[in-house]
Amino acid sequence: MRLLTRLFLISLLLAGLVAWYVANRDDRVWFKGNTHTHSLWSDGNDFPDMIAAWYKDAGYQFLCISDHNVLAQGEKWVSETDVEKKKIAIGQNVTEKYRQRFGDAWVEKRTAINGAKEIRIKPLEQYRKMVEAPGKFLMIPAEEITSVAGKSHIHINAVNLQEIIQPFNNLATVRETIRANLKAVVEQSLKTGQPMLAHINHPNFLWALTADDLAHVIEDRFFEVYNGHPMVNNQGEATRVDSNLERVWDIANTIRLAELQQPPLFGIASDDSHHYHGGSSTSGRGWVMVLAKELQATQIIEAMQKGDFYSSTGVVLERIRLGSLTNTLSLKIQPQPGVKYRTEFRGTLKNYDRSLSEVASPKGDPQSMRLKHGKDIGVLLASSDSLTPSYRMTGEELYVRAVVIADQIMKNPSQQPGEFQKAWTQPVGWKIQVE
Ligand SMILES: [Zn+2]
Ligand SMILES: [Zn+2]
Repeated sequence: MRLLTRLFLISLLLAGLVAWYVANRDDRVWFKGNTHTHSLWSDGNDFPDMIAAWYKDAGYQFLCISDHNVLAQGEKWVSETDVEKKKIAIGQNVTEKYRQRFGDAWVEKRTAINGAKEIRIKPLEQYRKMVEAPGKFLMIPAEEITSVAGKSHIHINAVNLQEIIQPFNNLATVRETIRANLKAVVEQSLKTGQPMLAHINHPNFLWALTADDLAHVIEDRFFEVYNGHPMVNNQGEATRVDSNLERVWDIANTIRLAELQQPPLFGIASDDSHHYHGGSSTSGRGWVMVLAKELQATQIIEAMQKGDFYSSTGVVLERIRLGSLTNTLSLKIQPQPGVKYRTEFRGTLKNYDRSLSEVASPKGDPQSMRLKHGKDIGVLLASSDSLTPSYRMTGEELYVRAVVIADQIMKNPSQQPGEFQKAWTQPVGWKIQVE
């Protein structure tokens, strides 16, 4: 072959390789964020800019401050006395800490007509300019739409909301009430052209919602599998059947995929922090890690809607991959010195036992009966002690998810003596049967 022809063929091959690399490279990175936090805009006890600065300093890349039925917009002044009253631990006063952190020029004060000394709670539009940094830290507006249906407290976080949503309360049923609130988020997203994400919070707060509620409200795509508030019963309770939230997740996803031909729920971990000066509802307990190209609200939400995220209370994953040819879910765990990890691959097989029984709920619960589902929902399909665990699907699974459990207690557990650090991947390997 003549030299020129050979060079030409080599250059063609190189161009092909470059094109293949460009098409196949993954330039997404992990962004750490918390979608559920409270501030002085509602029942949290610190200034939103102080809270944002805490998360930024703690290595998070995005934060949603999600106060109850309010967006951080417009004017809000509170008396300094009220601010100090909300403090739980004894220590330096809250407004003084605020002044020390940001300086006198930043803190806005006034004297009300009744003589009370007041301090301004800044709107997001004002303080985000100070805390945000392109590619490094982003604030995403949010509201915890806080409603009731009978005795059930229904809390839904709406992320990237542009206008406040007033909650819908007490529709005909609990499920209808959830739907009405979710619908309001979808309508606002369509109206504004902004992607938005809604997640159902802490289903076991005052035992508001069951696995069957979460299964049948198909409009919902996200729920909190872990919430850091000390009163939300993530683990469930023996007197309430099928109330452990991982079990709730598996039951809801099994019903959705096997009976309703609907996509599964994705699981979120969040802080739901209220206390910033001591106290029991603090920050840094549960978060999401989102795989996206850029740190922008649109990209974060779209990635989460695709399921490109995992939830964590301490375990870090470097990689989650679903091999389309091999049908294998594989993880790469980022090790911490001296820590051991066990990965459980859980799922439900297509021929699962669908038997049901009714069990009475404890007196005073919102629902008098709960459904007890069969044992082979969310079964342990395989487990591994490797830092690169993998599971090859057989085709018999409705879905598979992985939970990685470290032999290390969370740095700031909400329950004593503590819970092990975990990471939860989203369910994969599922298909919706179109009839
Ligand atoms: Zn709540
Ligand atoms: Zn909350």
